[in-house]
Amino acid sequence: MPEVTLLAVILVLSVALQTVAAYIAMRQVGQVDDQYRMAWLIVALALVLMVERRMVPLWRHINAGEASSMMDALFGMAISTGMVVGIYGVTELITGLKSKANTDELTGLVNRRAVLKVIQREIERAMRTQRPIAFLMYDLDHFKSVNDTYGHTAGDSVLQGIAHIALATFRKIDTVGRLGGEEFLVVLPECNREEAKVAAERLRRAVAANKFVSGHHRIEITISIGVFVPKAVNHTFTIQNVLDATDKALYAAKNGGRNCVVVQG
Ligand code: GH3
Ligand code: MG
Ligand code: MG
Repeated sequence: MPEVTLLAVILVLSVALQTVAAYIAMRQVGQVDDQYRMAWLIVALALVLMVERRMVPLWRHINAGEASSMMDALFGMAISTGMVVGIYGVTELITGLKSKANTDELTGLVNRRAVLKVIQREIERAMRTQRPIAFLMYDLDHFKSVNDTYGHTAGDSVLQGIAHIALATFRKIDTVGRLGGEEFLVVLPECNREEAKVAAERLRRAVAANKFVSGHHRIEITISIGVFVPKAVNHTFTIQNVLDATDKALYAAKNGGRNCVVVQG
């Protein structure tokens, strides 16, 4: 193959690799938080420019029907490949770190930090769309005695089991988060008072009916649920309002005898 043709093939491959790198970079831009978005764009742009500095002279040589240094072309190709691998690696790293930072280790649910962010995001969406939104807080009943009787490890398995049930019970657009300890919060967008009550009852019943076991023992587990469906969501509405109101409803459910749902708001 004449050198010019070979160079052209290398050039096309390099450009294809750069396109892949740019695609990965742009997909990442859509996912990164606002404060990192500009930094990420600058890094991606700098990498593209670096490769172009090598590619443009090479393209001129090929266009003029001249051969250029094969080393030059291969170097350009190496940079393009490095760019794809590098950008992909950074993308995976950022995605992995982000998901670790937002995930509760024991249950795999979103953690407190992340669920508070979801509350904020969904409050803003509900304000824009004027669609109903519901929030639900649940807490295990007499969980201390479960730990005391069957041990902390059995208690941990119960928490994992309930997380599993909750994920299977709610819709894909709902977010189930662990606020801490044995207390959980669910964000239900596009959900009115009746629907929220039905969803909460479904979870309560599923937990009460589930067979939690520790060795040969069956552990009876129930949860109490507080539901809050705000009548209106406006700009004065805050995350703290959600936490206070769901907590109040949950407190009422505990006082009402536990293993029940209380809807307020
Ligand atoms: P109530 O019905 O009023 O909610 O009673 P309770 O016993 O569930 O409430 P209390 O607040 O007295 O006890 C909560 C228990 O939850 C105490 C703590 O050991 C346990 N707990 C919190 N986090 C974890 C965890 O990650 N794993 C396990 N196994 N237990 C936990
Ligand atoms: Mg409890
Ligand atoms: Mg508690």
